[in-house]
Amino acid sequence: MELHRYTWVEIDLEAIAYNIKQIKQKLPITSKVIAVVKADGYGHGSIPVAKKALTAGAEALAVALLEEAIELRKAQITAPILVLGWVPPESAVVAAELDITLTFFQQDWLDQVNSYTLAKPLKLHLKVDSGMGRIGIRSEKELYSILYALNKNKSIYLTGVYTHFATADEPESAYFLQQKERFEILLSKLKQHWAGELDIHIGNSASAIRLPEDMYDYIRFGIAMYGLYPSKAVKDKGEIDLKQAFSLHSNLVHVKQIESGDTVSYGCTYTANEKEWIGTIPIGYGDGWLRKMQGFSVLINGKRLPIVGRICMDQTMVRLDRAYPVGTKVTFIGRQDDTFIAMDEISEHAETINYEIPCVINKRIPRIYKGL
Ligand SMILES: *Cc1c(COP(=O)(O)O)cnc(C)c1O
Repeated sequence: MELHRYTWVEIDLEAIAYNIKQIKQKLPITSKVIAVVKADGYGHGSIPVAKKALTAGAEALAVALLEEAIELRKAQITAPILVLGWVPPESAVVAAELDITLTFFQQDWLDQVNSYTLAKPLKLHLKVDSGMGRIGIRSEKELYSILYALNKNKSIYLTGVYTHFATADEPESAYFLQQKERFEILLSKLKQHWAGELDIHIGNSASAIRLPEDMYDYIRFGIAMYGLYPSKAVKDKGEIDLKQAFSLHSNLVHVKQIESGDTVSYGCTYTANEKEWIGTIPIGYGDGWLRKMQGFSVLINGKRLPIVGRICMDQTMVRLDRAYPVGTKVTFIGRQDDTFIAMDEISEHAETINYEIPCVINKRIPRIYKGL
């Protein structure tokens, strides 16, 4: 792509492959990896990440929406794909056609799907709400009514069952264990009444890193595949080495000296104390570079330099330690020479979690891939 503005995200696909190898080394051979590439691969780009993950040893993919699964099929990806969210019953026709596995948890939903003619078999995974309180069946009663509806349709196959933990990334494990137990009770009932083979999966990144032996047939590997730790607690335990795949860069487009008492940006929130060099960078909250990042720093020439004044929609100013030429590289996230800004520093400053940052850095900033 031809850039007319030198602001770009670089995705190191070798880091994605590295992170998958790290988790596979911890998992027993019987637990396979589902690479979670929802929300456009957590903002990294779902298609290149999916392709790299599959060549690096992932067996399947998961997304949140059917739209996201269709996009992967259109890119000639033939691996199994699971949609994690609720899909309208009428969309089952398209899912069956494209061999996309859907998540379900409602008997009414099944009854409606049963009223459509499916050209090909439809694969379904049953979601159990063991305590997340989001989606899934919670009782034996729901399980039995669903099994009854399933038996009525010969073109619908139950191929898997799963649950999701609310506190897998926290040091305290009582609630996690309670959820696991609730899931296992329903699972044993299901197995009593369902003879077919089932893919069972319970763990996201945090669970897989903490309890690799307990993961059943698959793990759903999201944040850690991108080289980000699910939480500080998981990171501090040092159980896995991860490489951050995402970096964000730009260039200085204007450099000037201002006088003591001069101010920078909207609201004049920054005033120079002396003669200072100020650089302007073409990135702003219109790109998802949040206004909250005011007061944080960037890397220029391998040094941390402060962002000064309010972040605008399309531009951000920094205080330089000297004059630099227009075109000097600026790094917002990632490595420059021997210096590094971790995604976690950005999310901490923005008072959010690392998951959110690459998701909100939007498509106005092109993604450039290394290791394709
Ligand atoms: C997003 C998601 C995951 C991946 O979680 P990470 O913490 O990113 O590993 C796993 N399972 C479900 C149901 C999800 O929605």
